[in-house]
Amino acid sequence: MIIAANFKTNHTRKSTREYVETLKEFLASKEIKDQILIFPPATALDSFSSPSNLKIGAQNAYPVVNGSFTGEIGLEQLDEFGIKTILLGHSERRHILKESQELIAKKFSFFKERDFEIVYCVGEPLEIREKGFEALVKYIYGQLENIDLNYDKLIVAYEPVWAIGTGLSAKSEDIKEVLNELRKDIKAPLLYGGSVKPSNAKEILSIQNCDGLLIGTASWKAESFCEIIEISKKLAEEK
Ligand code: PEP
Repeated sequence: MIIAANFKTNHTRKSTREYVETLKEFLASKEIKDQILIFPPATALDSFSSPSNLKIGAQNAYPVVNGSFTGEIGLEQLDEFGIKTILLGHSERRHILKESQELIAKKFSFFKERDFEIVYCVGEPLEIREKGFEALVKYIYGQLENIDLNYDKLIVAYEPVWAIGTGLSAKSEDIKEVLNELRKDIKAPLLYGGSVKPSNAKEILSIQNCDGLLIGTASWKAESFCEIIEISKKLAEEK
């Protein structure tokens, strides 16, 4: 399983360091084998010494090595810390920051060419879900336009917009339906994200074709994130 934490605009450099230390101790003490990804804010990116199953990634970057793009970071800033993992297409970047599919696809190509592991997010807003499954699938495939689905370092996260940060996770049946549809064209690991917490993690991780979780709110406290990782471990042991 892949268990990823999206800090969004939370945590500082100091608290991220403390978080990573707590997490490392937890991973070692529980002998966790799952792949763990942490996406701290850009100011907290750093060179962390971590076990091979813990990677630190960037929540966003501009598709340039360096240059005049005020407020953005590029490859040079990521290279300084050996960052080789990036989150792209997150709904907050698509909907709040108005990132177009064209720009997201440009970022995808740029970081793919540089061999980054890419966690690529897709997901429909409520008004699309209400139009029915066919409309939902069409919308999500629009978000996959010009994305190389055969890229070997791709991870796709299905995150319905209405479930992100709302406390309302999608129903297992609905998640299963979408993941099964995506699986027809995507061999890469498929994650679910949207109000995952310790109380629903087991059920969601048990869904067919669900290869892991992308967690926002419930990842911000190391204890709660570790609790979810432990749930994943126990589930694997039960199988
Ligand atoms: C996210 O931001 O990717 C996310 C899934 O957030 P939350 O867990 O808070 O819904």
